[in-house]
Amino acid sequence: MLAPLSHRIHGKRHLQLYRSSPKNNGPKSWRIREAIPVPKPGPDEVLVNIKYSGVCHTDLHAVKGDWPLPSKMPLVGGHEGAGIVVARGSLVKDVEIGDYAGIKWLNGSCLTCVQCRQSNESLCGDATLSGYTVDGSFQQYAIGKAAHVARIPKDCDLEAIAPILCAGLTVYKALKESGARPGQHVAIVGAGGGLGSFAIQYAKAMGLHPIAIDGGEDKRRVCTELGAQSYIDFTTSEDIVGDVKGASGDGLGPNAVLLLAVSEKPFQQASQYIRSKGTIVCVGLPANAFIKAPVFDTVVREVNIKGSYVGNRQDTAEAIDFFRRGLIKAPYKVVGLSELQSVYDLMLEGKIAGRYVVDTSR
Ligand code: NAD
Ligand code: ZN
Repeated sequence: MLAPLSHRIHGKRHLQLYRSSPKNNGPKSWRIREAIPVPKPGPDEVLVNIKYSGVCHTDLHAVKGDWPLPSKMPLVGGHEGAGIVVARGSLVKDVEIGDYAGIKWLNGSCLTCVQCRQSNESLCGDATLSGYTVDGSFQQYAIGKAAHVARIPKDCDLEAIAPILCAGLTVYKALKESGARPGQHVAIVGAGGGLGSFAIQYAKAMGLHPIAIDGGEDKRRVCTELGAQSYIDFTTSEDIVGDVKGASGDGLGPNAVLLLAVSEKPFQQASQYIRSKGTIVCVGLPANAFIKAPVFDTVVREVNIKGSYVGNRQDTAEAIDFFRRGLIKAPYKVVGLSELQSVYDLMLEGKIAGRYVVDTSR
C-alpha cells in the first residue's frame, strides 16, 4: 500500500552524475537537480525520506570511475542514507510507514541463489548497489528493497547513525572476518579516515587493542582520542614494519590487519608485519592495485590473506546494535548536500579525519 505522496512531491533534490567521457570508466561530473519526481516503490520495496547520508570514499570512486565495474549513468550517488519510511509496496509486511530505515550499499539481492541462501548476500550475482548500479541516498527520497533496508531503532540519532550503514558495518564485519579475539592486537591501516575511525571504535568494543596507522597530526589526535593504543605516521615513519611490530606488545606483530587505505603500498607491506598465523583483511579498494606477499613466508608462517566486502543483513543489525548501546562514537561533520564537492576535494587530499555527513534538506 502506498502512502499519499502528493504533498511531498515538490523541492526534491537529487545529485546526479553525468558521464563526461563516452566510456563507462573515466571521470564524471555531477550537478544538483531540484523538484524531480519522487519514485514509487515496487511491490517488494520501500521509499525512504532520506534525512542524512554519509559520504564514503566509494562515492568518490564512483565519481572518478576508477573501478573495473560499470555504474548506472546518470546516477544519484550515496549509500549511507538514514531516514524515515514514507511508502511501501503491497508485499511489504515488516516495515511500517514512519519506521527509521537505512539505505546501504547493498540495495537488494535475489535472496534465492546459493550465495544469498548461505547469507553471503553481497556475493549475489543479481545484487544491486546503492549509488552505483541504482540511485542512492544523495537525495531526499530513495528506494530500497524492503528485505535489505537497515532497520534503525527509533532511539537512534539519524545523523550519527548514517555512517554506520557502510563504514561501521563494513569494518565490524571485517573485524569478525579477521578472527581476532579479545585481548589481541589489530593494525588498522587508514585509521584516521571514515572506515578507520569506526574500526578503532568497533575494535575497542570487541576487546581488541587497535594499532592505528595513518598520516599527519590531525589523524594522530583523532585516533588517540578514539582509543588507539598507538599511532604510526606513515608519512614520517622510517620503519613502518618495525614500528607496527613494536606496537604489538611482544614485538611479534599484530594478530590481524585491516587494510582500509586507498593506496597500494600498505597492501604490499602488511605481510611483513603480520604475526605468524595472523590474518590480513583487505577492505580498501585503491584503483588498479595489487596485493603482494612472499609465497614462502605466507606458507611457513601460515598467514591468511582475505577480502571482506560490506556485510549481510545480520551483520547490519549487529553493527547497529553496537551503535545503539553507545559503544561507537566516531567523529563526523554535517554539511549541506550542496557542499558535496568540497567534501570530495578534502577526501582526495586525504584531509578528512572521520566522516562527513550531508543533510539532504540543504
Ligand atoms: P577515507 O578517504 O575516509 O580514508 C582513507 C584513509 O587512508 C585516509 O585517512 C588516508 O589518510 C589513509 N591513507 C592513505 N594512504 C595511507 C597509507 N599509505 N597508510 C596508512 N593510511 C593511509 O576513505 P574511506 O571512506 O574510509 O574508504 C576507504 C576505502 O575502503 C575506499 O577505497 C572505499 O571504496 C573502500 N570501501 C570498501 C568497502 C568494502 O566493503 N570492502 C566498503 C566501504 C568502503
Ligand atoms: Zn561505503
